This record gives sequence, structure tokens and C-alpha cells, in this order.
Amino acid sequence: MNEYDSNRILDTVKKIGFDKTQNIDDASCYLLNTCHIRDRAKEKVYHEIGRVKKIFEFKQKPLVIIAGCVAQAENEEMLKREPYIDLVIGPQSYHKLNDKINEYINKQKRLEETEFDAVLKYDYLNKIKNSSSKVSSFLTIQEGCDKFCHFCVVPYTRGPEYSRPLKEIINETKELVKNGAKEIILLGQNVNAYKNEKYRLSDLIIEIEKIPQVKRIRYTTSHPRDMTDDLINVYNFSKKLMPLIHLPVQSGSDKILKLMNRKHLISDYIKTYEKLKKINPLIKFSSDFIISYPGEDSEDFDATFNLIKKMKFINSFSFIFSPRPGTVASKLDTINREISIKRLEKVQRQLFNNQIEMNKSLENKEINVLVENKTLEGNKYFGRSEYMTSVILDGNDRDIGNIVKVKINNSNQNTLFGEVVDKPEQRVA
Ligand code: SAM
Ligand code: SF4
Repeated sequence: MNEYDSNRILDTVKKIGFDKTQNIDDASCYLLNTCHIRDRAKEKVYHEIGRVKKIFEFKQKPLVIIAGCVAQAENEEMLKREPYIDLVIGPQSYHKLNDKINEYINKQKRLEETEFDAVLKYDYLNKIKNSSSKVSSFLTIQEGCDKFCHFCVVPYTRGPEYSRPLKEIINETKELVKNGAKEIILLGQNVNAYKNEKYRLSDLIIEIEKIPQVKRIRYTTSHPRDMTDDLINVYNFSKKLMPLIHLPVQSGSDKILKLMNRKHLISDYIKTYEKLKKINPLIKFSSDFIISYPGEDSEDFDATFNLIKKMKFINSFSFIFSPRPGTVASKLDTINREISIKRLEKVQRQLFNNQIEMNKSLENKEINVLVENKTLEGNKYFGRSEYMTSVILDGNDRDIGNIVKVKINNSNQNTLFGEVVDKPEQRVA
């Protein structure tokens, strides 16, 4: 989501004459977009400011802006602690960014802006063209969260749940496809809780599917409780919705899920999994896992480990529990670090094995790949499989933006390697 936000911030500041530089030494303004989800987020910001100070030691100091969720959580504390910071702006206040920059330039007064105002923010952003021109483009449809899992800062940093109107999202999708987007990744902290008037995420997917230039649709991140039947049913007929479902379970133990305030059971999760597998056995799942949540004993951990083996999760994320300021779990006793690291390593080994097994199974097979760009070395191309796995291939400039058949010759844990065997229709015409 921060990548999407950063692009929208750039679209915004272009209106008052700023642009992106590839060379930090040239910058007259330095904007750091921050994430607060796990540990040391705050310290990383101050460390980064130290680095910027060094770069500009003998030069005109740039205007320094801290945006994102650390800005939201720390607000005026940042201005007090670090005089080098000029503006602090939370993620629901980006519509005020240009005014704040101008105010600073005119009055030299350091400012912080951390009101939650998602409606006004999008009213403003809707009037500014989204200039992102990537084959695979992010599009935020929902922000914030009302669920208050005990470990999570999102409800405090992104504010209450807000879903953008369907029409706005369709208009922005059309803008993105005009710029060359072929894959739309719908974003939200709780994307499948999307609800605006009578519309749910399922309605939105059906509408986006009608846009001919859109070839693939994905959405992330979902909550198991919001995996409703209308959304599950879309997999029955959608031709564009990809068969990888990112559905964070966090733990395999009902006891831990209850302590986390997740409000779902493992049996609910398995039911959803089975419904989707029944519709399409090729659907695969990825997930997020929090290891060593306070109270996790070896039995709870084994339940998580066994779930990972059983469900064969791929492309997943796992982290040791990180106490976040202001959350319920921040006051709980943490589990011994050494034990936590051992548990994390065991889980990650299994996740890697699942991934390697899946990648190996694709060797000598032909798969569909959406080609996104040329690699930095310049003689190969980069794309993604339907399951989001990176694919490096021998191709052609004209493959960029097209779905091509690729024969996989080789693989490692993270990447598939292959060659194009079937040219897209556009090439023949
Ligand atoms: N809304 C999604 C859900 O409910 O499953 C998750 C979105 S959350 C912004 C992204 C991921 O960060 C979570 O799934 C969780 O695994 C991880 N995370 C959040 N807070 C964490 C914490 N305090 N310690 C470790 N991981 C955390
Ligand atoms: Fe955080 Fe997701 Fe829980 Fe909301 S549902 S509090 S975003 S983990």
C-alpha cells in the first residue's frame, strides 16, 4: 500500500512543481514514506534521517517530510526529537500535503498533520491523474480497520475502515489501463471487507473484469472472516481472478487466535479453504504467520507448523511477534528470543520446502506468464506466474504487457526460469 501511496504522493506534489529525482544529492525535498507494522520502524526513520544529514552536511538542507504510519503514530514527537524534520504527515492527510508544503515554505513553520480524513483524501486524489504506468499496478480500494486484533497497529495508524465508491475505482482502473496496466492488484488492509453502498468486493471484481484491457485481477490482504460466499462464488466464473489467495491465518491454534482477538477458528478457515478448492482444485493459498505470540506453547506452535504442511501454503510471510505501541498485546510477556528464532526458522524451512516443491513440479511444463519488464541486466525478461512467482525468461520486447506461454526449464526457491514457447496474438497480427 505504501508503494501505491508513494505514487499518489508524487502525482500530488507534481502539481506544485516537484518531481522525482534518481539522485538523492540533487533533492530539494526529501520525503520518507514509512511503515509501522513491525519493530524498529521508528528507529529506522531516525537512522535514515542521520544518513540524509550526512549527505547534505555541506549543502542546502532539503525540505524533510516524514509520511506514512510512523508519522501518524509519532506525530509531534518527531518534530520534538529531530529538528531536521520539517513536516510530519499521516496517511489519511495526503490531500493536505501541498498546502502544508506551501505553508512551510512561506512561514518556515514546522508542522504536523495527522487527522483521519479518508473521504476528503480520496475526493482530492480522484481529481489528480494516477500516472503509474506499470504492467502490474496497485490500486487501493479500502483503508483502515475496525477489527482491532490485539497485535496490530493498523486501526490506530490508518484509522477506521473506509471503502472507496465503486465508480471512483472503476475510473481509476481505466486510467491505469490507459497507461499500460494489464494486471490490477486491489489493495486494502482488509480488502475483502470492502463495502460501499450495496457493493462488495465481489461486485467490484465483476465490474473490473468487464474492462477488456485488464487481463489479471488480484486482491490483498484479506481477513478470513470476510471471505464471504459471494466472493468465493466469483471463482466459479471469473476468467481474470488469479488462483492464488492470500488469506492470513496468523496461527494454527484456536487458543492463540482467541488471544489475538482474531474472531475466527481454524475450522472456519479450513471450511473456506475447502469451498474454494472444490470450485477449483488448482487454487493455492498463501498466508501470514505470527510466531511466538504471547502465550504460544509448543503445542500451539506445532498446530501452526502442521497447518502449513497440510495446506501447502506458498508465497507466505512469517514474523516473530513484535510488540507494537498502544496495542493490547504490547503489555503481554514475550516469549524467549532463542525459542522464537528456532520456531521461526522451522516454519520458514517448511514454507521454503512448499515453495521449492511447487516450483520443481512446474519444470518442463508450460505456464502462463504476464511479462512485466526487461531485467536490469537487459538480456532477459521478468514476469509473474498465475501464483505470483517470479519468472525470468528469454523473450522479446513485444512480450511486455502480454500473457505468454513459457516453458519452465529450471527453478529455485523463489524463481522459475524458462523460455517463451507461444507468442501472444498481438505479435502475429
Ligand atoms: N488484515 C490482514 C489480516 O487480518 O490478516 C493483515 C494485514 S496486517 C497489516 C499484515 C501482516 O502483518 C499481518 O497479517 C501479520 O502477520 C503482520 N503483523 C501485524 N502486526 C504484527 C506484529 N505486531 N508482529 C508481527 N507481525 C505482525
Ligand atoms: Fe490488523 Fe488485519 Fe487485524 Fe485489522 S484485521 S487489526 S489490519 S491484522
